[in-house]
Amino acid sequence: MIRLFCWGRSRWDSLNLRRKLSIAFVLMTLTPLVLSSVFTEWETTKLMRRFVFERNRSLALNIAHDVDQLFAEKIRMMRVVIADPAFRSMQVDYQTKVLQEMVTSYDGIHIAVVIDSSGRQVARSDGLPVAPAIDYSDRAYFSQVMQNKTTAVSDVLVSKSAGWSGVVIAEPILGEDRSVCGLLVVNIGLSSIIRMIDAALVDQQSYIYVVNKAGQVIIHTDPLQTKPEALVCDGPAEKALAGETGWLEYRCDGQSILAGYSYLPTAGWGLVTEHGLAAAMTEVHDVQNANVFITVLAVLLAVLTSLSIAQTLAGRIGEISQASLQVAAGDFNTRLAVTRTDEIGELAVNFNQMTEQLAQRTADLCASETKFRSLVENINVGVYQASLEDDGRFIQVNPAMVQMFGYPAMVLLLKVPVHEIYYDETDRRYFLDQLHQYGFVRHHECRLCRYGGEPFWCSRSAVLRTDKAGGASWMEGIIEDISERKLAEELLHKTKQDLELQVAERTRELTALNEELHQLSLSDGLTGLGNRRSLDELLEREWKRAQREQSVMAMLMIDLDFFKLFNDTYGHLAGDECLKTVAAAIRRMIQRQTDFAGRYGGEEFSVVLPATDIAGAHQVGERIRREVEALAIPHQCSLLGGVVTVSIGVAAKIPARDEPVQALVEAADQALYQAKAAGRNRVVLFSGSEG
Ligand code: GH3
Ligand code: MG
Ligand code: MG
Repeated sequence: MIRLFCWGRSRWDSLNLRRKLSIAFVLMTLTPLVLSSVFTEWETTKLMRRFVFERNRSLALNIAHDVDQLFAEKIRMMRVVIADPAFRSMQVDYQTKVLQEMVTSYDGIHIAVVIDSSGRQVARSDGLPVAPAIDYSDRAYFSQVMQNKTTAVSDVLVSKSAGWSGVVIAEPILGEDRSVCGLLVVNIGLSSIIRMIDAALVDQQSYIYVVNKAGQVIIHTDPLQTKPEALVCDGPAEKALAGETGWLEYRCDGQSILAGYSYLPTAGWGLVTEHGLAAAMTEVHDVQNANVFITVLAVLLAVLTSLSIAQTLAGRIGEISQASLQVAAGDFNTRLAVTRTDEIGELAVNFNQMTEQLAQRTADLCASETKFRSLVENINVGVYQASLEDDGRFIQVNPAMVQMFGYPAMVLLLKVPVHEIYYDETDRRYFLDQLHQYGFVRHHECRLCRYGGEPFWCSRSAVLRTDKAGGASWMEGIIEDISERKLAEELLHKTKQDLELQVAERTRELTALNEELHQLSLSDGLTGLGNRRSLDELLEREWKRAQREQSVMAMLMIDLDFFKLFNDTYGHLAGDECLKTVAAAIRRMIQRQTDFAGRYGGEEFSVVLPATDIAGAHQVGERIRREVEALAIPHQCSLLGGVVTVSIGVAAKIPARDEPVQALVEAADQALYQAKAAGRNRVVLFSGSEG
């Protein structure tokens, strides 16, 4: 099924537009027409059958009713006659007169007869003499009336008195004792019943028949079909005899028969109207034929119209298609003739406008491309398109790019795998990662290799491109040779580094000099000990610390003995040397880091001993005195053994709040004075010292 559909589809696709349109138009017009015809025919047949059925049924009902009324009317009339006592008295003359009036007054009565209870004729309506020889006692209706004392209707009989075929209605004439004393018999001519039935026949193909209680056909509209001896046991007759009224279809001799049936209650007969289906459908066939004729005519018209429309449409569309092919081939001068104002005409106008715009835009594009190509070819920057594949190549490069890479010909550069131009594979991977992650890379600086392998610095920028179908990807970008800039940058960097080194060196030297200057500003130029300024600063600082901590602080005042005499004896230069030697001895004798020795002025020195009590200070003083003496610097004018000696005053104090440091200095000075006064070359403690 699927293969068949596919085959059909491919066949359909291979048809040209004209055929497709023709087929489509024909199918569109034919399909509803045929469907409508089939439906109409089907519905007509159905309605016709129903109509024939209904017609047969109502026909049977009406005829049965009319015949029955014929009988009932006669019976009523007979009962009226019998009700007359004079008639019942069986006076022949009177009865004859009544019978004659009766026959004259009512249609269809052939003859009316009065029969006595023995079955002999008593009176008759036709005026002829009674025939006593005629015996009616053998008639079924006679026995029936005599037995049942009620009305009886016979089958079709041949009259014994007149010799006509007819139906006999017999009514009992009852005496005073309710016994049957005679019968009033009326013979209704068969011809009048048949006339009534024939008048109801609708056409030559239908027929009507009447069956008696025994199922025998007693009347048939087709005289040849009347066979009173034949029993009819088919469907409609049985149903009619069962007292029903209706219709049905049955088959007889291979033919479908449409039948209507009804019951005649007065006579107890059944009446059937029948119609051959083929004959009944004749009218339908007429409708069918007319339908087929109209359909064929409509098909012809539809085909002709469809072919004409298809020809018109397909022909014009074919011209447009041909023109489109010419435009697609680049002939933008192609134009369609506009000869109509309908949609096809509008299409031609639109096509011409579109072609003009296309021509204009193509010209603009060419101009733009020329400008762009010129720009790319003359720009002093490498421009390229390259594959993103691992082993991909450049797709396009400009002349500047070839020159930058130093290749002898562009074709050689296009043959080189892109990864081979990288000096460092890591740069390539980074570049591609960035490109895939962000879709572009800007100013990525790396080293690429020129023809021959020489690396050079360049700056790369690129964008990722993907075709609209979402398939292939490539990159487009520019490469700028920045090797000269890099060189300059490296030079600048190196110069900067050198400068920084020089500045650092100079800074170090300056710091050392500053330190030296600082030291110089704080030390005594001759002896190298702390000068007076630094001594004062230290005294002040340590004094405040002792005040805060309430610790003891000691101070030694050292003075050379008879030094004026030394100068006078050996000269000032020798005096200076002596001072230096003594200062060095003092420095050696100071052990703690916090102890400080300074030149107080002239040939006087001070030693500050933070956190040292008077005993400790005394020890230091004694050590200095002995060391100077041990130097044995000759001093022949000294009154103390011929060598240079010193006198030392020692004071120690825990500074009171707001007590100035001068208190300590004065105390040490006072002790020195006492040492001088006591003979020199000795250490004297300030009597008020603490610790
Ligand atoms: P005394 O035992 O009482 O201290 O006697 P003295 O001679 O040392 O007395 P004085 O203190 O009066 O003398 C100090 C002398 O020290 C005066 C000066 O010639 C000398 N003098 C002071 N400063 C220097 C110096 O820088 N170099 C030299 N060569 N001599 C100095
Ligand atoms: Mg002095
Ligand atoms: Mg002195």
